[in-house]
Amino acid sequence: MTREELFAKREQKLKEKRMRRLMVIGGIIAALLLVFLIVRIATGRVSKKPGADSSVKTTEQTGASAGTTVSRTTETQSTAGTQGSTETAGTAQGVTETPAAQMTDETVSADDTAVKGTTDYTAEGINGWNDSGSGRWYKTAEGQQYMSGWKTLDGSRYFFKADGFAATGWEMADDGNMYYFNEDGTWDSTQKQKLVALTYDDGPSWNTDLILDVLGQYNAKATFFVVGVNQADFYTSELLREYNEGMEIANHTYEHVILSKSDGDTITHQISANDELIKSLTGYDMTLLRAPGGGTNDTVHEFVNKPLIQWDVDTLDWQTRDAANTLATIKEQVRDGSVILMHDLYQATAEATVDIVPTLYHMGYKMVTVSELAEAYGYTLENGVEYYSFYPEESPDPEIRAAHGGQA
Ligand SMILES: [Zn+2]
Repeated sequence: MTREELFAKREQKLKEKRMRRLMVIGGIIAALLLVFLIVRIATGRVSKKPGADSSVKTTEQTGASAGTTVSRTTETQSTAGTQGSTETAGTAQGVTETPAAQMTDETVSADDTAVKGTTDYTAEGINGWNDSGSGRWYKTAEGQQYMSGWKTLDGSRYFFKADGFAATGWEMADDGNMYYFNEDGTWDSTQKQKLVALTYDDGPSWNTDLILDVLGQYNAKATFFVVGVNQADFYTSELLREYNEGMEIANHTYEHVILSKSDGDTITHQISANDELIKSLTGYDMTLLRAPGGGTNDTVHEFVNKPLIQWDVDTLDWQTRDAANTLATIKEQVRDGSVILMHDLYQATAEATVDIVPTLYHMGYKMVTVSELAEAYGYTLENGVEYYSFYPEESPDPEIRAAHGGQA
């Protein structure tokens, strides 16, 4: 073959190869579409209404959505076609069948995350809703209970806690956000969670463990503005616990030096020495700074290489050393987007935290770190700039402002 023929043959082969690749890709796309359709039919869109023929059928679906958000709307599917993953259960195991009139509509929603299980009292009660002294719970057709997630019943959304009781009041759902439930357990979607940042200065200390215990119990996060000398370098296990439990660790200078009375070199050293210490202990690069005493001036603004986090709620815990007073101040002054100032090293503050965290929780506050709060409400943190609060109605983001009653 001549060179030309060889090249022509090679060209032909390449063309065929490209063709085959295109066909394979096309085939894969078609197969994926088919799988997607099958999965969709199998998991979602199937509903069941108690039939007059009283054969008890239940549609089961678990683990639907993980990343649900506050703005989510109730979505109840009541499609006509009920073929799919409808499975029959219960009747064979001697479970008393409930007349159709007593049964509640167990519509399966795509947002349902509740699982079925049993607790100490599952055997008691009737199919459907049960009221006990401890709350409402729901017995399924198979004689189980809904628990640990969302469930749509009769067109209303409920959240069942791990103990099987329907949530009432404010409750953190499985997506980590707060939702409000009426006395009967129905979700009130008009009530929106609020965000707040608890901050603890001058630690870590021998009180840190108690503070972390309480925060952990309520899945709450806080920001710890730590000092290097005699604190982080001494209470290292407490510091590591803060870090490992998802708290934000932030800079409060190496030796708790009043920056507004310091020169540029001192400011730089106090921040960088603490940065290096915390980095060596945790591997974490701190991004925020709180100036000791909150003292700032032009030199501070010029030399700090971090956003300066102040506060809008001053508990004066260091002065009063009184847990009841600290709690009362917070209840009175807290609002959506607040930054609360407290101190890690006073026993009264740790004791106050035991009440502060559940109190804020039941007021509908999700407790987040300062960085999370700023981000959630659309604030971009800039070095050398002071931030006192992150009110959503004053957000730099017009959409967030408008959604919270601020000026559009
Ligand atoms: Zn301090």
